[in-house]
Amino acid sequence: MKQYGTDQIRNVGIIAHSGAGKTSLVEAMLFNGGTIERMGAVDSGNSVADYGTDEIERKTTINCSVCIAEWEGQKLNLIDTPGAEDFYGDLHSVLRIVDAVIVVVDATTGVEGGTEKVWEVADKYELPRLIFINKMDKENASFENALASIEETLETRAVPVQLPIGKEAQFSGVVDLVQMGVQTGAFLKGVGQPDGSQRAEKTDVPDELAAAAEEAREALVEVAAESDDALIEKFFEGELSDEEIQDGLKTGIFENQFVPVLCGSALENIGVQQVMDTLINCFPSPVDVGAIEGRSVSGGDSGTREPSVDAPMSAVVFKTIADPFAGQLSFFRVYSGTLQGDSQVSNSTRGQVERLGKTTFMNGKEAINTGQVQAGDIGALTKLSATQTGDTLCDRDALVELPGVAFPPSVISYAIRPAREGEDEKMITALTRMSEEDPVFRIERDEETKQLRISGLGELHITVNRARMADKFGVQTEIAQPKVPYRETIRRSVRSINGRHKRQSGGRGQFGDVWINLAPIQRGEGFEFINNIVGGSIPRNYIPAVEKGVRDRMERGLIAGYPIVDLQIDLYDGKHHPVDSSDMAFQIAGSIAFSAAAEQADPALLEPIMNVQITVPEQFMGSIIGDLNGRRGQVMGVEQIGKRQVIQANVPLAEMLRYSIDLKSMTSARGSFTMEFARYEIAPDDVAQKVIAASKAAAEE
Ligand code: GDP
Repeated sequence: MKQYGTDQIRNVGIIAHSGAGKTSLVEAMLFNGGTIERMGAVDSGNSVADYGTDEIERKTTINCSVCIAEWEGQKLNLIDTPGAEDFYGDLHSVLRIVDAVIVVVDATTGVEGGTEKVWEVADKYELPRLIFINKMDKENASFENALASIEETLETRAVPVQLPIGKEAQFSGVVDLVQMGVQTGAFLKGVGQPDGSQRAEKTDVPDELAAAAEEAREALVEVAAESDDALIEKFFEGELSDEEIQDGLKTGIFENQFVPVLCGSALENIGVQQVMDTLINCFPSPVDVGAIEGRSVSGGDSGTREPSVDAPMSAVVFKTIADPFAGQLSFFRVYSGTLQGDSQVSNSTRGQVERLGKTTFMNGKEAINTGQVQAGDIGALTKLSATQTGDTLCDRDALVELPGVAFPPSVISYAIRPAREGEDEKMITALTRMSEEDPVFRIERDEETKQLRISGLGELHITVNRARMADKFGVQTEIAQPKVPYRETIRRSVRSINGRHKRQSGGRGQFGDVWINLAPIQRGEGFEFINNIVGGSIPRNYIPAVEKGVRDRMERGLIAGYPIVDLQIDLYDGKHHPVDSSDMAFQIAGSIAFSAAAEQADPALLEPIMNVQITVPEQFMGSIIGDLNGRRGQVMGVEQIGKRQVIQANVPLAEMLRYSIDLKSMTSARGSFTMEFARYEIAPDDVAQKVIAASKAAAEE
């Protein structure tokens, strides 16, 4: 494949609610560009973008995939992203590195929950975007309804640049409002010429649409003119040329003043060439986007990198695929300079040297060898040793770190263990590789419960990754609800408690004797040990042993086996024996004293309380708040952001373990939430009794 100049590239993410037709749209664009000779289909499992075995099986995009369509002498890097929230990790990394997005909306449903969510992520990166109203050929398709839902729900200035001709089975083409021509579906499956040169024929606007088209064009021209002061003057003086309209659109789109709306059918390949034209004519190339601001690592230069082959090389890795046989595949975007294959570069994020192998351009799963990848373009490398998703690769003598990928927090956790005994090592290796590949699939060892915990963006996310572990690494796993890290504490002070350890059995005896006071301290303070021994009743060298005895005993808990926290021990007196005393004897004495004291100090169970933030469309407010009450939650505040309500609440963790699943079903997947640990609070009696009973039952087992 030839090298394209930085100004001849468009890096475009394709985003949508699942099933709107992203993968099909990419397929049609590849066909139009001549990348493929026949259009595959998602339903037959032979699309270019969804090539993973699990993607074919589930008919859904799980991993982002990069595809290349050459069009009008330029290169479109098209990145299909997952629509299901469970796989949003890739959505975030792709939107971090593209310059524009196509938002696919299903003409039969209009904007869906997932559309709103991906739109928000595109907002975060302030990406210029184009909306493609797809499936115009399908029963119940409506351009008008879809457009209305876009204006209402996405609260954006949506400007049609096309009108559909007919709909449902009669949908036959689109009117191009800039050129006032018509393109019909002359480019159907299997009849196109895969040299990229053949275009659908242009004809005149049919009479019955002429008036509507004229009106829509006027609105469009006005919007285009408004983007630029010079254009608006010309607009009031007379006509704008098609090129001027296009320039106006380009400026307005780039500055996110409005969003152009196109329509068509990905399956029938109608209106798709116009999408490609619009990307080429009205969307920014990496040169238009301009320099990226990084952080200079070596000092001396500013950290700014210009989108030019003459600048020092810098690139960001945005996707890693782990393969136990082929090794790791890393996708990157070059921001400046040229990334040469078979060279040495720096991974400035990790401060390590990377030896690069061959570079490739990727089209779906097909690797196309290339000696280098230039500024603005996207490529892939295999077998990087130190590099993970989000890292910067750069010239060794011009170190810079570019912004990485901000992944969303996980919302669901499970305890995991191998299904077959003796496979712990193997499972941990697989988990590590999987989480390198997918940084939102996190692993963590809970020192307290001794459980290995995995967390992710939803149940499906966990299921798919477990299936991949079985497939790729041969490890079957079992999961269970994670244990809640309860704590115990005391509510009352007790004074003057003695702990004495004395044993006389044959040879040398054991002797330690301590006196303590015990008092609760502020929540979250943990533990304080105060040594008030005067006059050497316990020799100084035994004091740490007493403290250790207490601490060890605290770890084992009193009422339900959870660590005891937030208390103070005042060690004020004791006795020792010149021969029989030892560290061990004083440890045991400390432990005995602590047990005796804590039992009298009104012990209680503490449970973790989470700060929860829930975002839902207005109409779900009532049911969400009602549900939170049922979870012993406390609503701390509600804020309206656009048409969505953001609820802040404090909820016990024990009630939140399945929340991602429940929220999905309560809001038809339109709600989202995040949560983080806030503090421990004393659990209500009924909750405590259940936890205590469960721990007794577990201990008996
Ligand atoms: P994605 O999940 O957004 O990638 O959507 P897909 O491309 O996988 O398409 C989902 C389903 O919609 C598949 O069954 C496609 O065949 C179907 N589909 C996609 N585009 C069109 C279209 O333009 N018209 C019709 N009728 N069906 C379509």
